Order: sequence, then C-alpha cells, then structure tokens
Amino acid sequence: MSGAAARQLRFALRGGAWVAVYLVFVLAPLFALLIGPLPPSRDFWTEFSVAIGYSGLAMMGLQFGLTARFRFVTAPWGEDVIYHLHRQISLLAVALVVAHPVILFAVRPELVALLNSFTAPWRARFAALSTYSLIALVAMALWRGRWKIRYEAWHALHIALALTAVAAGLAHMVGWGVYLEAPWKRALWIGLTLFWIGLLLYVRIVKPLFLLRRPYRVSEVRRERGDSITLAMAPDGHAGFRFKPGQFGWLTLWGSPFQITGHPFSFSSSAAATDGRVEMTIRNLGDFTSRIARVPPGQRVFLDGPYGAFTANRESADMLVLIAGGVGITPMMSIVRTFADNADKRPVRLLYGSRTYEEITFREELDALTGRLELKVVHVLQNPHDGWTGERGFIDAEIFRRHLPPPYAAHEYFICGPDVMMDAIERALGGLDVPMSRYHSERYSFV
Ligand SMILES: Cc1cc2nc3c(=O)[nH]c(=O)nc-3n(C[C@H](O)[C@H](O)[C@H](O)COP(=O)(O)OP(=O)(O)OC[C@H]3O[C@@H](n4cnc5c(N)ncnc54)[C@H](O)[C@@H]3O)c2cc1C
Repeated sequence: MSGAAARQLRFALRGGAWVAVYLVFVLAPLFALLIGPLPPSRDFWTEFSVAIGYSGLAMMGLQFGLTARFRFVTAPWGEDVIYHLHRQISLLAVALVVAHPVILFAVRPELVALLNSFTAPWRARFAALSTYSLIALVAMALWRGRWKIRYEAWHALHIALALTAVAAGLAHMVGWGVYLEAPWKRALWIGLTLFWIGLLLYVRIVKPLFLLRRPYRVSEVRRERGDSITLAMAPDGHAGFRFKPGQFGWLTLWGSPFQITGHPFSFSSSAAATDGRVEMTIRNLGDFTSRIARVPPGQRVFLDGPYGAFTANRESADMLVLIAGGVGITPMMSIVRTFADNADKRPVRLLYGSRTYEEITFREELDALTGRLELKVVHVLQNPHDGWTGERGFIDAEIFRRHLPPPYAAHEYFICGPDVMMDAIERALGGLDVPMSRYHSERYSFV
C-alpha cells in the first residue's frame, strides 16, 4: 500500500472510530436505563416518546464535545465539517426533544395541562424551560443574519441557552425519575451532564489559562492590497507551535483569552518557520476586522491553534490546484510560501479571483514566486481595467479547461473564497468528474 493510501486509511479508521464513540455516548446511557428493575410498562407511544426525549438530551450534551476544539476529534474532518455536523445534530436533537411532549400530549391529552407553568409541577416547568431554550437556540442560529444579531452577542447567548437547555432537561428527567429510580442510574445521567458541562468549562477556563501563559507579541503590522492587513506575531517567552500550511488559529486581540469570542484566521505565512513566528492576513469585513489597522506593534495577543484539515501533502497528486476568491488567498499563500522555503518543485496552479487588478492581495509576491517555483498564477478579475487581456468574470469550468491540463481528476484541489464561489466551483469540479476525495474546501462562514 502506498504512503498516501495508508494515510487515507488511517484517517478513515480514525474517523470511523470517532463515529462509534459518538454513538456509544448517545445510545449507551439510554440502554443503561433498561438494566435492572424497570417501572411498570406503559403504552408503546409513551415509552417511545420518553426514549426520544432521553436521546435528544444526550445529543444536546454531546454538542459541547463537538465544539470543545479537541484537535484529535476534528483532525480527520476539519472544523467546518464538525460545525456543519454540530448544526445538523442540533436540528435532530430539537426535533426529538419537541416530539417527546407532542407525542405524549397526543396519547395522553390530560397532560396538556402541564403546559401551564403557573400550575405545573417543577419537573414540568424544567421541561418547558429546556424545550423553549432549545427552540430559541436553534432559531437564533438559523436566523442570526436575518435578525441582525451581532456575532459576539449571539455567541454568548448561544452558550447560555445551551447550558440552560441541558441543565433544565436533566432536572426534568431526575424530577420525573420514572427510569431513574435506581441511584446508580441517576448518578450516571448526572455524571454525564456534569461531564458535558465540564467540556465547556475546559474550553472557557482551562484552555484560556493555558493560552494566558503562552502570549504572543505583534511584531509587524503590514498593509496589503485589497483592504487587508497582515499581522506578524512572535511567541513571547515560549517556543510557539508549528502548523501545516492551510491551517488556521483563533485570535484574541484585545482583552484576555477568557473572553467568549475569538476570531478564526488562516495562517498566511510559511509553515517552514522554526522560530514560532506566524502571520495572519485580515480583510476589513466587519467590526472586529476594521480595528486591525489600529493594532500597535508590541501589543500582546493570544493565539489558539493550529486547527483545520485544509492541508496539502495528504495524498499524492500530479499537481496542486489552488482556487482562491478574495481573502481566501491567505491559506494558499501559506502553501506557496512553504513550497518556496522547502524548495518544493511540485507543480502548482493558482486560480485567483479578485475584484480589480489593484486589489489583488499579494500580487507582487506571487509574481516573484512564479519565478522560483513550478507555479502558474491565473488572475480572474471581476471588474478589469481597460486593456486587461487576462481572464474576467468568475472562476468556472471554462477557466479550468483553459488553464489546467487533463485529466482533471489527477490533481488535488484546494478551494477557499466566498460561499457562492465555492458552491459554483464544487459543482464545476463535479461536472469535470473530479471526485470529492480530490478536493478540499475551507469555508470562512462555518459559523
Ligand atoms: C477557518 C476560517 C479562517 C478564516 N481566515 C480568514 C483570513 O485568513 N482572513 C480573513 O480576513 N478572514 C478570515 N476568516 C473570516 C473571519 O474570521 C471573519 O471575517 C471575521 O471573524 C469577521 O469578524 P468581524 O467582527 O470583523 O465581522 P462581522 O461583521 O462581525 O462578522 C461577519 C461574519 O463573520 C463571521 N464571524 C464573525 N465573528 C466570528 C467569529 N468570532 N468566529 C467565527 N466567525 C465569525 C460570522 O459569520 C459573521 O456573520 C476566516 C474564517 C474562518 C472560519
């Protein structure tokens, strides 16, 4: 077996093992309830609704594990896939949790009275609190943009609602207690819930404590074309970390790492640096990114990383095709800079979409790198100036045909840019019979 195939197999096995661990965490506590003496059995639908209520809660709790930024969990998939899964599981969990009372009310209409929180017992009030929190959490995640909720406010509320939903769900289960009469079963579910909440404490307290002891200093602030700024950062009193080209880190610029929201940015510098220095190139797109220009050199910052599976060298290919739109150039820049530092002469094609010629971030450096590497850069301009003879419009299958040698499935593709561009390119690659295993996408909008 080739090295690349063995690597893929290892990734697949690791991925499969994590799926198995996930299922055990969701299903084992449910089956544990069936061990030992059982309460008198009720009709099928009542028991069914209880079972899905328990499963929904177990899934909700495990969400804390998915977002705990454990590298060994996310490495086989990449953070964007994990966050996608996180969203899909939330929808499933909320559907299960809502179905639980709906089924109960349908088979036992007298229970509808429990909806009156003034007269209902506490265990029913906790159920209502848990369900309403979950619904609010999912609705805000789905419509945050439409409701114009600031990211930071949404993030804090998201965590508060998740904690409330899980804690109130547990209080409801223990309060009702039909399947939790045995002390060990109660201990199991309470222990599990504490473990899930402990994961949140790990992310919010333990990890920041670790980051606090490993600060970075901004060593340079560089203006780039395309309303972007590069921050160069050096470890302050420690060795820093190594990353792979294409990975990203969470940056905290102002305040301490205990603040709830960090911002993710790809590393744009070469991964071959051995002194721990890293660079991020940040485009002015909102309230946080617009303040980057005001960062003074010497400022203390915190970096949590590296993360992400958007990395080359995972499998052998005859050519790397990097497809970037706008600030999606940053991970590609890290890839080509690393190639340059390692004198890596593998062929690379960079298809790079920008609005205008003047806004092409890293234009001059890319020109220089084409002389040193087996690199060919194709600029695609949305608003070209008079006299521009290069590609114009958006990157599409026609541009692939003009600039990439067939067979297209023999190359390995890396795509990063606005969502619409990425969707169009993934469709175009499908049309060229490039299998999904041959391309990697990094979506900057995963949350
Ligand atoms: C893996 C990854 C790598 C990225 N790399 C780069 C890069 O190299 N260069 C670059 O300029 N941008 C990059 N981004 C995008 C960058 O994180 C956002 O543009 C930035 O956080 C927006 O913050 P803002 O407050 O200025 O904008 P806002 O107007 O507040 O936010 C715009 C949108 O960005 C997203 N966003 C905002 N804050 C966060 C946050 N804390 N965490 C996650 N998403 C957030 C939300 O979807 C939000 O709707 C990357 C994003 C991801 C997910």
